[in-house]
Amino acid sequence: MAILERITKNVNNKYWDSGENNFPKTDRFPVKNRYTAGMAGQKFLEGIKEEAKIYGTRCEKCNVTFVPGKLYCERCFERLSDSWVEVGNSGTVHTFTVAWVEKDGSAKKKPSIIAAIKIADGFILHRLENCAPEEVKIGMEVKAKFKPKNQRKGHLMDISGFHPA
Ligand SMILES: [Zn+2]
Repeated sequence: MAILERITKNVNNKYWDSGENNFPKTDRFPVKNRYTAGMAGQKFLEGIKEEAKIYGTRCEKCNVTFVPGKLYCERCFERLSDSWVEVGNSGTVHTFTVAWVEKDGSAKKKPSIIAAIKIADGFILHRLENCAPEEVKIGMEVKAKFKPKNQRKGHLMDISGFHPA
């Protein structure tokens, strides 16, 4: 279940799905409490799902653009609920790691690269694709690749990954 879906009874919320159709059921984890993305998280995820756009919020006082957007500036506490801005779909690699091992401990056939992508003044943690581990550089420009609209569910994985720009 994508995080934008709402439930009215906690008993209906039995697990959180990774959002990947090819993951086995063992990759679901049980949910015992109701959780929502919150107002800012919902706006951020809806931007990805409906428009294939990444939104942040801007505090003009502090000259900071938060990604994902926040309802309040963490520096001056200014309310930012009306300060949503498109931040583009590109960013730079701030840091990254390479995973060589599957969750079950076996060697991966192909390593995966997970990076903190700096967009405006914030970060998104996501997969880097279309590049080999030895090609990744701190500061390299990357661009979000969105799944087709009919496959997007209101989940960060609606972005299938970031590719070199
Ligand atoms: Zn501020």
